[in-house]
Amino acid sequence: TIGMLALDSSGNLSGACTTSGAAWKMHGRVGDSPLIGAGLFVDNEVGAAAATGLGEEVIRTCGTHLVVENMRRGDDPETACRKAVQRIVEKNDSVEDIQVGFIAVNKKGEFGGYSIQQGFNFAVYESGNNRLIDAPNWAA
Ligand code: ASP
Repeated sequence: TIGMLALDSSGNLSGACTTSGAAWKMHGRVGDSPLIGAGLFVDNEVGAAAATGLGEEVIRTCGTHLVVENMRRGDDPETACRKAVQRIVEKNDSVEDIQVGFIAVNKKGEFGGYSIQQGFNFAVYESGNNRLIDAPNWAA
């Protein structure tokens, strides 16, 4: 999945995502990316979030909606993402073979990400500069 979140100079949030879905997927499978609240959720009063990884796990936890609701309750974006990962961890006997990563940005322009497995990076463009952030992960 490619997920993108933006906060414009007027303070408005937006987001988009696109995916080719899962490898060897069943014909007709609908992943998380086209489902608002699963692969992508934006609330212009609070923040925005996008997900990548095993869509079934993101769908059954309403993953990005959960991230945004965590921010609404006061979590910073990284903590909000970590708690959504934690929800997925709690719903599985093992997450050894599961990868899900979340990114989030809030109304103040603070951002963060969190992943089940290590190696999840996200790019940030801010004040004319690009950088790559290595997201913290559950596996560490
Ligand atoms: N989230 C996508 C899906 O499950 C897979 C991906 O990360 O591209 O359909």
